[in-house]
Amino acid sequence: MTEAGRVVHKFGGTSLADPGCFRRVARILAAWPEPRQVVVVSAMGGTTDTLVHAVELAASRDDSYRDVLEGLCVRHSDTIRELLPSEAAGPVIAAIDRDMGDILDVLRAAMLLRGFSRDTMELVTGYGEVWSAQILAALLSTLGVDTEWLDAREVLTVQRNSRDVDVDWAASRERISEWTNRHRTAPTLVITGFIASTEDGVAATLGRNGSDFSASIFAALLDATEIHIWTDVDGVMSANPRLVSEAVTLDTLSYDEAMELAYFGAKVIHPSTMAPAVERALPIYIRNTFKPDLPGTRIHATSSSAFPVKGLATIEDIALLNLEGTGMIGVPGTAHRLFGALRDEGISVVMISQGSSEHSICFAVPNALAERARAAVEQAFFAEQHHGQIQRVDVTTDCSILAVVGEGMAGRPGVAARFFSSLGKAGINLRAIAQGSSERNISVVVNGSDTQRALRAAHAGFYLSEQTLSIGLVGAGNVGGTLLGQLQQQARRLKHEFDLDLRIRGIATSSKMLLSEQPIDLEHWRDQLEESGELPDLAKFAMHVHADHLPHAVLIDCTASDDVARLCGTWLERGIHVITPNKRANTGTIEYYRRLRQANRAEGAHYLYETTVGAALPIIQTLHDLVQTGDEIDQIEGILSGTLSYLFNRLDETHSFSSLVEEARRLGFTEPDPREDLCGTDVARKTVILAREMGIPLELSDVATTSLVPESLRDGSVDDFMAALPAFDAEMEARRREAADRGEVLRFVGSIGRDGAASVALRGYPQSHPFARIQLTDNIVLFRTQRYRDNPLVIQGPGAGREVTAAGVFADLLRLAAYLGAPV
Ligand code: ASP
Ligand code: MG
Repeated sequence: MTEAGRVVHKFGGTSLADPGCFRRVARILAAWPEPRQVVVVSAMGGTTDTLVHAVELAASRDDSYRDVLEGLCVRHSDTIRELLPSEAAGPVIAAIDRDMGDILDVLRAAMLLRGFSRDTMELVTGYGEVWSAQILAALLSTLGVDTEWLDAREVLTVQRNSRDVDVDWAASRERISEWTNRHRTAPTLVITGFIASTEDGVAATLGRNGSDFSASIFAALLDATEIHIWTDVDGVMSANPRLVSEAVTLDTLSYDEAMELAYFGAKVIHPSTMAPAVERALPIYIRNTFKPDLPGTRIHATSSSAFPVKGLATIEDIALLNLEGTGMIGVPGTAHRLFGALRDEGISVVMISQGSSEHSICFAVPNALAERARAAVEQAFFAEQHHGQIQRVDVTTDCSILAVVGEGMAGRPGVAARFFSSLGKAGINLRAIAQGSSERNISVVVNGSDTQRALRAAHAGFYLSEQTLSIGLVGAGNVGGTLLGQLQQQARRLKHEFDLDLRIRGIATSSKMLLSEQPIDLEHWRDQLEESGELPDLAKFAMHVHADHLPHAVLIDCTASDDVARLCGTWLERGIHVITPNKRANTGTIEYYRRLRQANRAEGAHYLYETTVGAALPIIQTLHDLVQTGDEIDQIEGILSGTLSYLFNRLDETHSFSSLVEEARRLGFTEPDPREDLCGTDVARKTVILAREMGIPLELSDVATTSLVPESLRDGSVDDFMAALPAFDAEMEARRREAADRGEVLRFVGSIGRDGAASVALRGYPQSHPFARIQLTDNIVLFRTQRYRDNPLVIQGPGAGREVTAAGVFADLLRLAAYLGAPV
């Protein structure tokens, strides 16, 4: 029978676990564009295990095997009744009942014989596939898909060997063409996986998980063009997703890569089961039954993926043995004796490494075999040890092997460098290294306790952008919340254009915090914080954000809190970058300020705070550039508060001071308590920040600050304050008029001179002065320097507001990314 163009589908037990699963599978098949298809099925999930259990119970004379079988029978007939109309259900249920009768007979014999043969076990355990195939075939027929089912025991012929079976291809081919001649060929053929029979017609199985093998055998027998293995994962992953949350689904793999990964326990089909497909160069797809729209992983002769490395895997519970001594140098036959001794003990060696000095040979075996291996080696080299030619046999247990697999590594320099540098950066100690000359696999031995960290670090080295930033935001109010919105809008573009991967992995407010392994969905962070937020704990928060497996960590402090500011030093010292519009850290003691700057230098952690003065206006950066290029600052003078800027820009004979405070408060330009703006401390803090940036060790208490809050109104409630303020309007109006008479306007200004004299006060400025010509909540800063002597450098513009402040923090984040190497 030649059925060129046919696809073989194989559905595993989890894809056929219940009626819903059968319907899902039927939908996939009914929607398949090519009508002729071969469908190889496993038993309903768990059935084979249950049958094995029943055999064992019977053999141990436990007659509860009957209940076990009864349960299986009920599960199948319930499934059938739910899926099929009664006229279709009847014959299938009857067939299963007959099979159950046979099984009961066989198991009764096992019970009487107090044991079971291989024949018994293989006969009984194969029934699950016979049932699932009939159910699926009947379901497809009722859906109008023209379907036949085939009991593989009628055609697939095998010879048993001591471990499993060999396929008798000639006999199988002959029997399948006989079968085809006897049956009409329906376009869709459902075939039992797992089972076969011997030449004498004895039921056999292909070994546990044998249905994959069935799929590739039938693909060969029926000349199919491709195989789709449907399972419950999206495809072959780059690493175990339970250990590496960043693991990705691989688009393609070569057969050889798939075999390497299968050895490491990746969820790939077993190498031997692929042989018939590999011989015919059939592509094999690993696909998810539950997400049929995904393309899955394509396994073929060659793989064209862009990644040089495909998978990373670990083997745990490994012991490393090291045989060391001068007596081995240049002596032929040492390795022969060593591994011969291990062979005689039946110990299979997992990895071998010998340096070309031949001074030592090191090899890895499973932990459990370590002592036997040591004894065997010591015995083999007894004489040498006795004569001191071999010093010792060291055994280190509880190690792990970490391997990277990928054909693209062959002949490509730099892959190993990347692997080792990611491990080095994560501080992982390598105990042994091996790479075969096929260059398809590099394996290293690490301490068992480092396994997951090593795997994650190496995975990040190959699969993540070098500019992957793990970000935690503390404070999600006006500025923080707006920042998240801006990030949400730009993140995708930044990733695409600059390979800059900004991952918000934590958000903390004063009442809750949200930690997430995967980037937080910035469209729904508020709901998520509400629903799954936990009590805030900033130590835990920082630890989470500072993840080993992501290249860089950043904490953004968008609070106005002293407590958070006090943590910045520790964060920086741990190598976490810090970005903040919070003035508190920079205006603490000068010692703390120095510590922040020092940590920056020592740990390579960047500390960015442009928005602490004038929001996003480039004030800090400009000052920094002036100082670092050797200019000398004579004086900095500025209107540094948007609130106070507004009040004095609007003050005239028609607007009293108190009415303007009232208005500004209504517009949200002031703090809830306007005295916090009027007292001048905010301006004094900004003055301190600028002074320190100039290199002057100023403390907040050194700034001569003249408060605008009348002495008698400093205590008491906000309402009392607002009510009493008009009484002071006359005084303010007098000052204004006095200034106006001199041709001046009043401005609230912070100033710092090169001698360190710092003041914050209300002063008069002539109409021609830049301070007289500003608007609304503008900030303005004048730099008088050696280079800008005749005419000052002026920076002016809106210096407050959530949008611009958030954008300023965002800009600091991009500046950080640029420092880290992003091409932004
Ligand atoms: N049902 C068999 C087992 O569980 C074969 C298979 O599912 O591949 O081992
Ligand atoms: Mg600024």
